Amino acid sequence: ASAITVPVPLGDRAYDILVGRGLIEAAGARIAALGARAAALVTDEHVGPLYAQALSRSLAANGLRTAVITLPPGEATKSYAGLERVCDAVLEAKIERGDLVVALGGGVIGDLAGFAAAVVRRGVRFVQVPTTLLSQVDSSVGGKTGINSRHGKNLVGAFHQPSLVLADTSLLDTLPAREMRAGYAEVAKYGLIDDARFFAWCEGNWTGIFDGGPERDEAVAQSCRAKAAVVVRDEHETGDRALLNLGHTFGHALERITRYDSTRLVHGEGVAIGLTLAFRFSAALGLCPLSDAERVEAHLKSVGLPTRLSHVPGGCGTVDELLDAMTQDKKVKGGSLTFILARGIGQSFIAPGVEAEKVRAFLTSEI
Ligand code: NAD
Ligand code: ZN
Repeated sequence: ASAITVPVPLGDRAYDILVGRGLIEAAGARIAALGARAAALVTDEHVGPLYAQALSRSLAANGLRTAVITLPPGEATKSYAGLERVCDAVLEAKIERGDLVVALGGGVIGDLAGFAAAVVRRGVRFVQVPTTLLSQVDSSVGGKTGINSRHGKNLVGAFHQPSLVLADTSLLDTLPAREMRAGYAEVAKYGLIDDARFFAWCEGNWTGIFDGGPERDEAVAQSCRAKAAVVVRDEHETGDRALLNLGHTFGHALERITRYDSTRLVHGEGVAIGLTLAFRFSAALGLCPLSDAERVEAHLKSVGLPTRLSHVPGGCGTVDELLDAMTQDKKVKGGSLTFILARGIGQSFIAPGVEAEKVRAFLTSEI
């Protein structure tokens, strides 16, 4: 299988992202080349039965002793209990400092297994084999790992960069359509942030991404390049990396209001509504042409994503509830709201200190 290589030049922690169809069959050789003797393969009950055997076989064929750890699917697995299970299984498998944790799954498994790798034996290396579009274009790149606590999502974690990311795009053939669309919102986001050409390319080529044509590999690779560039500039999110939150201030608020109930709203759907709102808000503030906001919405709508507050199943709550949910966001500093706004498609920027009254007026007009 031919692969596109996206380098992530992070000094002594530099690594490659490989993107292509059929990569897991040859994964063993790539992973063995990292020099480990054993691997703990962490997966979930949806992904494991589909792909764990092919991957563990390939690892074994390349001389790696492999143990498989299978966890229940879903966000609830990203917990202290889940962390304990993975750490204990990794120790049980006699994984040592030179060995590897391999995450085979979506963002839940990647975040959890990555965090376990960051802390078990004070840190072992790990490899990401992301199996959702969202994890291939977003969560597997950049080194944020962690679990949820009763105080909120992703509040306990570590920066721990993978040693390799293998994004096998053929694995997306079994991904439910709704998960595929949700991940696509993040793909479109990269164009909207700073690459108007890529957004226009998406408008013309999105069906190939969904159908598994060569456009899928191109889109995943381009998204990884975009994320890697931001991460390399600002690994620990002290500045620029916040641009990746375009659409997320509104999106996170909607996830909170729908109580993270994935039957109502999944992350990418919240992001799709959030992207549309970020552009409509920018237009309302006179920063961006309304026609750009309409173009964003038309495209997200055409792939089947929700774009408006009225599209939230079970309702989006009142303006006050929305504002409340937004100011609880961990990215909010000192009571004022930080937004990612745009002057147009591909021209987003960080806007600190947006007055709550302006947000209120906008939401009132949207509800
Ligand atoms: P997920 O891991 O829950 O996967 C979604 C569903 O698809 C699950 O039911 C899973 O079992 C199933 N699945 C996965 N791959 C499949 C395949 N190839 N075929 C069939 N079914 C498959 O969800 P996700 O959207 O991948 O990730 C969401 C998580 O990612 C959240 O916890 C979020 O906080 C995290 N995240 C992290 C970062 C980061 O930078 N670390 C960035 C964005 C999101
Ligand atoms: Zn996101």
